[in-house]
Order: sequence, then C-alpha cells, then structure tokens
Amino acid sequence: MTYVIAQNCCNDTSCVQACPVGCIHPTPDEAGFATAEMLYIDPAACIDCAACVDVCPVNAVYAEDELPEPFTRYAEINAAYFRANPTRHLPLRIADRPRAKDDQETLRVAIVGAGPSGFYAAEELLRTATVPVEVSMFDRLPTPFGLVRAGVAPDHPHTKAVAGLFRWVAAHPNFHTFYNVEVGSYLSHDDLLAHHHAVVYAFGAAQSRRLGVPGEDLPGSHSATDFVGWYNGHPDFANRVFDLSGTRAVIVGNGNVALDVARILLRDVDDLATTDIAEHALSALAESNISDVVLLGRRDLAHAAYTTPELLAFGALDGIDVVVDPRDLHGHLAAEDFAGRLKTEVLEDLAHNNRGGGKRLVLRFQVSPVEIVGSDRVEAVRIGSNRMVTDASGAAVAEATGATETLATGLALRSIGYLGKGLPGLPFDERSGTLPNVGGRVIDPMTGQTVPGMYAAGWIKRGPSGVIGTNRTDSAETVSALLDDHEAGNLPCPTATAGDFVTLLEQRQPARVNREHWQRIDEHELALGLSSGRPRIKLTDHNDMMRLAGLAGTSNR
Ligand code: NAP
Repeated sequence: MTYVIAQNCCNDTSCVQACPVGCIHPTPDEAGFATAEMLYIDPAACIDCAACVDVCPVNAVYAEDELPEPFTRYAEINAAYFRANPTRHLPLRIADRPRAKDDQETLRVAIVGAGPSGFYAAEELLRTATVPVEVSMFDRLPTPFGLVRAGVAPDHPHTKAVAGLFRWVAAHPNFHTFYNVEVGSYLSHDDLLAHHHAVVYAFGAAQSRRLGVPGEDLPGSHSATDFVGWYNGHPDFANRVFDLSGTRAVIVGNGNVALDVARILLRDVDDLATTDIAEHALSALAESNISDVVLLGRRDLAHAAYTTPELLAFGALDGIDVVVDPRDLHGHLAAEDFAGRLKTEVLEDLAHNNRGGGKRLVLRFQVSPVEIVGSDRVEAVRIGSNRMVTDASGAAVAEATGATETLATGLALRSIGYLGKGLPGLPFDERSGTLPNVGGRVIDPMTGQTVPGMYAAGWIKRGPSGVIGTNRTDSAETVSALLDDHEAGNLPCPTATAGDFVTLLEQRQPARVNREHWQRIDEHELALGLSSGRPRIKLTDHNDMMRLAGLAGTSNR
C-alpha cells in the first residue's frame, strides 16, 4: 500500500521533512519546486509508514485505498509525476545549527505582516534558533493570518486549516502581538530597528495589476482582488457593491484567483452558507442572476495559469459544467512539461463530460481584452484573438492576430495578478513590486550591498506566486540568513529596550490590538458561527472590532 497526496496539498514540505525515505518530491532544493502545483509521493518508493499523514497541516495525504471519490484520480497523478520526472530518493538533509553559547542575549526580531509568510518566519525563528528569541508581530489590521483569512476562498476550509500552526505560534510566550499598528504610518523602520536586532518585512502584495485598456475604470469593471476581499469580509472592501443582476460575468486571467472568483459566483448559495463567507456577500449572491462565468486566458490551455487540482475540484461540483471551445482543444502548442500535459488531459476529460448542469464555467483560451465597452457602465468586453508563438528566450507567449469579437456582460473582473507596494524608507523595485533582496537579505539597489538588519519574506520578497505552503520554505530561507548574520555578529544592536518600545507604542498607537484583544474578536466570531452552524461569522467593520476588543475611542487618529 502507498500514500497519495491529493487536492488540498499546500506545498509547505512538512511531509518532505518527515519522510524517512525521501520519496516525496519536488523537494525545496529541486528545480521546479517554486512553481510546483503540488507535491507527489512515489508509489514505487513509499514504505507505508504514514509519517507524512501525521505532519500534513491540511490533511492532504491519504492511504491509496482510502482515497475519497473525488480524489481517486490522484493515485495516477502521483505516479505519473515520477514517470515524467525520474527522481533519486534521499531523505532531506537538514543542517544542525551551532549549539547556543551560554549567557547569550535575547535576539529581538520584528516581523511586519501577520500573514502566512510572517507566521512561517516566526515559527522558524521560535522553533530553530539556538539563541533565545523574542518576536514582535505587526499588522495594519486588527486580525491576523492575512490571506488565510481574507484571500483563501471560504469553500476551501482545508487550506485554512494551516492557521492551526499559526495559532501555535500566536500563543507562544515569546511571541508579542501588535495588530492594528501600521508600519510606515505609526512606526518607521528606524523605530523598529532601534528596539530590535532585525526586521523581517512580510507584508505581501496587496495591489492588483492593471490591464491598461480603455474602459477599465467604468462602473461594473473591478479587480478580482476587491471581489475576493469583499466575499471574505476584509474591512477595506466590505462596502463594495458588485452588480450581479446580469447572467454573465467575464473574468480576465485564468489563474487560481480567477477560478476562486468563478466558483464563488457559480456555487450553490446553500453550500456557501456553510462556510465563513461574509454575510453581506452571502445575501448578495443569494440574489445573483449570474449563470455563466467566462474566463479569458491569453495563452493556450497547456499554459493556463490555474493549477490542475483546482480545475479538477471545479469539475467535481454539481450543477456546473466546464465548457471549452473545441477549437481550443486542438489549436495549442504541445505542452513541454508534466504540468502542461496534465492540464491538457484533464481539460479534455472535463470538456467531454458535461452533465448539463445549468450553470457554466466557460474557459476561453488565446484571447485578450482590448477594451471594456460601455457608455456609463460596463456593457461588454471586446476581445482580440491570439496565436501562440515561441519568443527568443524559448518561452511560449501570445501574439495578437488582429481578429476581435465582443462579449456582452455587465460585470468585468480583472484577475491578472497582484503587485507589491513599497513602504517609506525601504528600497523598492517598482518593476517587480518587491523589496530587492538576495535570499531574503534586502539590498540597497544603488550599492548592491545588504542593508544590515533588513529582511524580506513571502510575496514582497519573490512576487505573487505559489500556494500558501510555498511561503514556508521561502520564510525558512530568510530566517536562516538572519540567524547566520546574528551568529556572525552582523546585526545592528538595538539602542533601546523592549520596555521602551511599549512606551513608544502607547504614545503612537494606544489602540494596538494585543493577543487578548484579538482573542476576544476571535471568540466572538466563533460563537456567532456556532449559533448559525457555520465555522465563524466574521466582523467586517473596523469600529465593531475595536468595540469588541475594548479599544473603542482609544486611537490617536
Ligand atoms: P496568476 O496565477 O499569476 O494568474 C494571472 C493570470 O493573469 C494569468 O492567466 C496571466 O496570463 C493573466 N494575465 C496577466 N497579465 C495579463 C494581461 N495583461 N492580459 C491578460 N491576461 C493577463 O495570479 P493569481 O491568479 O492572482 O494567483 C496568484 C498566486 O496565488 C498564484 O501562485 C496562485 O496559484 C495562488 N493562489 C492559489 C490558490 C489555491 O491554491 N487555491 C488560490 C488563489 C491563488 P499568463 O499566464 O499568460 O501570464
């Protein structure tokens, strides 16, 4: 018997580290790990020890003979990965850190951003450092967990289960909570560094990229990021209004965010009512007329940006057909890798298995929007056809053919990726939307030198790619660099004490949310959920959160 990794895989490599025979790939040191859709177990090498099952934070590993119905295909997908990528199995090598010397002073680290990459960095520091460590965690919102709370779709509770690990971190006695404290507004980098040896920036990539086509700002044209924030109850987006009165929505882009948004638009509202989706979104979706969601992919099906497990999950939903134009099934470039071949195969299967469900996810390929059309609001999207070509670097890219068509719709959502934004006083690369860095050490672009005590992790370090667990290895790399620098005596020494810091913060932002305040909000949301048969009902208004935390009227602003 063998174990099999299925749809919920979060790529956080807990299983890779636990596997005694090293049969789970790709590993963080292998090519392709950063872009891997998921991890796979080699059935020929698995020794049936279940070590991977015990450590998986999202319950994605199953015994082959216990795979639930929607996941049976994953036994073959795991095996196929190793036929396409013959791999030598070796248990992961984990280097020992030097033993702590006696009487070492406490290493104080500030982490800015309480999302997955920030929490993974905190976990790595608290778990692996051989010196005493104190972590101060900052977030501009009163609630932690970043994209796990406000990005992961509400109907993906397995992915949200990773927050279990973050709760362990949040409860650690050496972890200090400073939520509702915006760095760059209440505190500067210099303030943080005066009281800590190092600062890890892990504040993600919150902006959405723009298309740059006429009509993009018409009412009815939005970024998918706003829509995701809205249905997830992010306070910045809770008051947004989306017109769901038409029957068709058009989404530009075909990444996993586009699939999330399409699913929320098309899923049965009774199913959504069992999740932690925001109340206002549930009410609006209950009145929605949308029955067709059209995804516009600029490249062909072999190069679609979504991951196969997400498309497979879509295909398993009752009442929704996945529709593909037969021309798209043929006129594409041959897939050059395992992921591309699997995408092509799965899409062909789905397209030939329509069950006449009533609602439709329509996948268009090799098309790009050239204009959002309308006089005072969105009435249509004009799209241009593309052909696939190989550019000078060998990459498969789309090239416009000049032919266009018009697709009527009242709702256009652009889902073409996120973009990071800089903070005052930090170096920033506008083109990639990241803090310039080498392996997590932030560098000054003028000199190429590292900035002592300044680090980056997650999307603001590498750009908006990968799934939640991808951030674990990314943050571990940053923390390893930070600990090496500490060991080598290369970190600046704080000039003020931890006590001084609390005094400074009392002056700057008395409405800071500490662990106990957040627990009040958390318990309140969970209790509301329990009484309605839902995992939680989120507070979506900042003032309500402050009232519940007992901090109403305390802010300096
Ligand atoms: P993404 O995966 O980068 O997809 C962006 C899409 O926009 C691609 O289809 C891209 O096409 C297209 N695009 C970019 N610029 C365009 C333009 N000017 N015109 C037309 N199309 C354009 O981004 P994402 O969907 O925002 O996801 C971000 C990351 O979060 C991804 O790594 C994703 O896997 C992850 N995520 C995971 C989950 C999950 O696991 N359930 C859920 C949500 C997000 P090209 O491919 O041709 O560039």
